[in-house]
Amino acid sequence: MNALTAASRNFKEAAKLLGLDSKWRRACSSPSGRSRDDGTLASFVGFRVQHDNARGPMKGGIRYHPKVDPDEVNALAQLMTWKTAVANLPYGGAKGGLLERLTRVFTQKIHDLIGVHTDVPAPDMGTNSQTMAWILDEYSKFHGYSPGVVTGKPVDLGGSLGRESATGRGVLYATQALLSEHGKTISGQRFVIQGFGNVGSWAARLIEEAGGRVVAVGDITGAIKNGGGLDIPGLIEHSSGRQGVNGFQGGDQIDPDELLTEDCDVLIPAALGGVINRENAKDIRAKFIVEAANHPTDPEADEILSKKGVVVLPDIFANSGGSLLNIQGFMWDEEKVNSELRTHMNRGFQDLKEMCETHGFNRVARASILRGWGA
Ligand code: GLU
Repeated sequence: MNALTAASRNFKEAAKLLGLDSKWRRACSSPSGRSRDDGTLASFVGFRVQHDNARGPMKGGIRYHPKVDPDEVNALAQLMTWKTAVANLPYGGAKGGLLERLTRVFTQKIHDLIGVHTDVPAPDMGTNSQTMAWILDEYSKFHGYSPGVVTGKPVDLGGSLGRESATGRGVLYATQALLSEHGKTISGQRFVIQGFGNVGSWAARLIEEAGGRVVAVGDITGAIKNGGGLDIPGLIEHSSGRQGVNGFQGGDQIDPDELLTEDCDVLIPAALGGVINRENAKDIRAKFIVEAANHPTDPEADEILSKKGVVVLPDIFANSGGSLLNIQGFMWDEEKVNSELRTHMNRGFQDLKEMCETHGFNRVARASILRGWGA
């Protein structure tokens, strides 16, 4: 299912549960601004979709991936609106994407649309602290030195300690909260992780450290299985040297298409969206799915999984660890960063339990009403 169709379908379901009338549904579901630049180099197209700023400046990553398109970026921008609201952060939602490394030109084109009080980009798939440093530098040429224009920047430029691991660490804390709700701990469980980039590799490392057994991992280059538990530090070393997990000797190579249906207790999709869909949902053997990627589970798959009794922890909570950090603007040491993150994720889990997924929608709708929008 197309990402935007999936996001809209989830939104409509939640709006129905909340009883939002059509005016609010329209106001909350379409982006408040869209920038598109065809540029002087005709083959490169960049997008920044600004979805909602009722609760504060917009916030969201910049993604470099060949599959990026306007609908995908629009859907991801919407998810950021719900993510910041579920975490109760004073921010809205946006997302950007480029097909190639044209960060500086992209920044020149969108510098009037981003800013500490309007829209604050962050790293996403294919981008990192260096990319944020380029945006910061280019933006500062127009507006004076402005470290707050991006989060996820290098520590030397005012970035937060612990930011690089924060999303994966948030996934660990979210998983711990979920398992404890079901009377379980990380240490008794078998995990399968799809995606071994920043989020997947940090989640794998921290889960292994907490006593979990990571029995299979896959990425775009291949997939590896070891029922006794993979050596995660070894796999990280292998994968950073060779740009992927393929060829790792500490396990058996398996078909990456079969990774998601491997036997395990907890499945952590930490790569692209839409990977769990009506084709494979019936074959999923995990008891829990923790959505470390954005929208990895299609609404159609959600229905099938719910009938099978599989518990899905949604992306807008499970992968919000990165967004929680940095925008606070405090210079904390790493220990303090991690303990704040744990507190936030635990609180978020309790919120989620009480209000289910509709909580974020409520917060966005209430802020829109108070600002007199669409009235
Ligand atoms: N790119 C991350 C996401 O999609 C972080 C966004 C942010 O912190 O603004 O959740």
